[in-house]
Amino acid sequence: MALAFVNGRYLPQAQAWVHAEDRGFQFADGVYEVVALLDGHLMDFDAHMDRLARSLEALRLSWPMSRAALALVMRELIRRNGVTTGLIYLQITRGSAPRDFKFPAPSVRPTLVMTVRRVTRFGSPTHIAEGVPIITIPDIRWLRRDIKSVSLLPQVLGKQQAVEAGAFEAWMVDADGLVTEGCSSNAWIVSADGVLITRPTNHLILSGVTRGSLLQLAAEFGIATEIRPFSVAEAKAAPEAFLSSATTFALPVTRIDGQPVGTGRPGAITLRLRQAYLATVGGVRS
Ligand code: PLP
Repeated sequence: MALAFVNGRYLPQAQAWVHAEDRGFQFADGVYEVVALLDGHLMDFDAHMDRLARSLEALRLSWPMSRAALALVMRELIRRNGVTTGLIYLQITRGSAPRDFKFPAPSVRPTLVMTVRRVTRFGSPTHIAEGVPIITIPDIRWLRRDIKSVSLLPQVLGKQQAVEAGAFEAWMVDADGLVTEGCSSNAWIVSADGVLITRPTNHLILSGVTRGSLLQLAAEFGIATEIRPFSVAEAKAAPEAFLSSATTFALPVTRIDGQPVGTGRPGAITLRLRQAYLATVGGVRS
């Protein structure tokens, strides 16, 4: 039976409720994190906790428990669920209080929810071998996309549009035709001369933890990198494209709006970075 952690208690997921007046539910007044667990190793754990700290600070939310205690609870929840490979989801909201936009009294404690989902693999073998199709859609989000907020409605609509179009992900595009990022991933291309290109991190995109690790690996391999926005047209003409996230690692993108990217096959730099990222926890996997 899957167990969740809710406000200090380990509960069967079927009984893991938060209050009807929780501000996460009422106002999306909360933040979240997703950490991959691979063979017992929490991928980029410190970087995820650093980003959580930034998200909490941006919302003027306090930690529901110390950072060290949170890490202990996370490991305990993983242990109790008997999961060695999976995903940990963590949500922190401003707690529950009678519905009112302004912050509640300081005595209202933040809500903390943690769940663990077992996965057999990160990315289906077909997706890795063939790459995935994506579509492009307008970016209709607010201007603090650097905060990992639970307010994900544009991404919910975007992902659904992608699914209905037979695509894996939707890349969001700004008014100038430049790709911002995927609904739940960062966007990358490789130029004809082998330069890795991805958008700079500022308030317009989420600073992907996987993005950061892949950039470090690229630097170690001596792969030339340009941190700049790219247009949909440039992506469609690029020999290679991919997306990155904690749940997919680096995943080849082989079609954009129905058009093949390069030869229509996963690119060499993408696959090299994917393998290298997996190898950071030992062993080389597909
Ligand atoms: N961009 C958005 C909008 C996301 O939601 C995510 C992950 O959920 C990412 C990028 C990738 O970030 P990370 O690599 O930290 O999972």
